[in-house]
Amino acid sequence: MEIDGFRGQLITAGHTEYDTARAVWNGAVDRRPRLIARCSGTADVAAAVRFARDHDLEIAVRGGGHNVAGTAVCDEGVVIDLSSMRAVWVDPAGRTARVQGGALWGDVDHESQVHGLATTGGIVSHTGVAGLTLGGGIGFLMRTYGLTVDNLLAAEVVTADGSVLRASADDHPDLFWALRGGGGNFGVVTSFRFALHPVGPAVMAGPVFWAADDTTDVLRFYRDFAAEAPDELGTVVRLGTVPPLPVVPEDLHWRPALAVVCCYAGAVQDGERAVRALRRFRTPLLDLVAPKPYVAHQCSTDDTVPHGWHYYWKSTDLTGLCDDAIAVIADHAYRAGSPRSYAVMFHMGGTVARVPHDSTAYAGRDVAHNINIDAVWRPDESGEQAAAETAWARRFLHALRPHRVGSVYVNFLDSDDGTDRVREAYGDRTYRRLAEVKAKYDPDNAFHHNKNVHPG
Ligand SMILES: Cc1cc2nc3c(=O)[nH]c(=O)nc-3n(C[C@H](O)[C@H](O)[C@H](O)COP(=O)(O)OP(=O)(O)OC[C@H]3O[C@@H](n4cnc5c(N)ncnc54)[C@H](O)[C@@H]3O)c2cc1C
Repeated sequence: MEIDGFRGQLITAGHTEYDTARAVWNGAVDRRPRLIARCSGTADVAAAVRFARDHDLEIAVRGGGHNVAGTAVCDEGVVIDLSSMRAVWVDPAGRTARVQGGALWGDVDHESQVHGLATTGGIVSHTGVAGLTLGGGIGFLMRTYGLTVDNLLAAEVVTADGSVLRASADDHPDLFWALRGGGGNFGVVTSFRFALHPVGPAVMAGPVFWAADDTTDVLRFYRDFAAEAPDELGTVVRLGTVPPLPVVPEDLHWRPALAVVCCYAGAVQDGERAVRALRRFRTPLLDLVAPKPYVAHQCSTDDTVPHGWHYYWKSTDLTGLCDDAIAVIADHAYRAGSPRSYAVMFHMGGTVARVPHDSTAYAGRDVAHNINIDAVWRPDESGEQAAAETAWARRFLHALRPHRVGSVYVNFLDSDDGTDRVREAYGDRTYRRLAEVKAKYDPDNAFHHNKNVHPG
């Protein structure tokens, strides 16, 4: 297969790289595209979009390849693969970064931290910038600096007819609004320009672990602690087992436990004060909070979620952490069959909640906490194990029903979360507005291999 003017790599079945090129982070996803167009730049992306449209082929767009639903690859069709487009250019004086559409968060942190700068990104460094940003972008810095989309200044976009547009507050502002939360529905983003902020390079950060038996008491304490926390303190609760990382003593490996993972986006001494009460609560199993390079903290859990394991997610925003919700969480979190399965809860609020709600397409700004239930099993484990883990995640979500707000983070939806859950992610008003923008920029729904917004 040939694409006129294409300078990157074209990979089809039979090519030595075909199997690695079609693999995504979630090893349970096994799709066989007709063509993988590994682009070398914007011109290649435009050529690949036109080629797919001219030949009436399905289109999938790959940034970091991290989405649990595996929408970065399709069966048959063309994968427009940006994984060779990972450059990051930082302007330290202007405090901005231009980031290519296939970059990972580790690439952004690596280049920005040379200048003591950062922007809100994901909590795992091998997550793609593009998919994360287009869905909203939550992470340790969001309570101080807002969501990733709140830091997006401009994007270069290849639209469904193959034209190249700039989207910003002044250029195509309707498209710019939709890109900030509406996912990959509106075109292929070949580069992003982000605002950066002074962070670190050393930050007070890391997890405090407690035994699973202490979950109810720790979560009740955490609810009040988090509600009073300064914006600079980002926390994520992880419930499951203690991961067998080199920094963890061997006798604790795989022990059922919960952790509150902290990152203070300010002076280390202030961070020390902000986390003191948490670290003194009860008797932690392990306290790894310490001053450390921000980049080290950002990749500290990378090995707990490697590429190639099998994953299945269920997620919801929560009304709050009332005692009943905590009881459900404590009851279900440790019932998974696999020690690799876990649940993760992000503390939202701060700047996220203060940004005007209709200024972007991200809909969950009022929410204090969300939860993502992550069923995990290894590729060599049996079909029964897979069924048991996915059933655990579904039961856990079902039990949380009374505490669900009716919104969900779109980037945590899995492949069996249908149209109703995409609508749930946005709410009716935002969904309708997204559908109008979709009708203008992609009326034929060429970009539908995603959390789809139908042109309306
Ligand atoms: C281990 C792990 C940790 C995570 N942690 C966080 C976190 O801390 N915060 C958070 O907010 N999210 C987090 N996520 C969710 C993450 O935001 C999504 O998985 C996101 O889709 C990843 O982006 P990607 O570029 O790797 O996606 P891909 O799988 O490459 O793409 C997913 C979809 O995004 C769209 N897309 C991708 N690239 C482009 C592009 N260049 N232009 C247009 N559309 C594009 C397409 O529709 C595509 O189908 C995490 C995910 C994982 C697996």
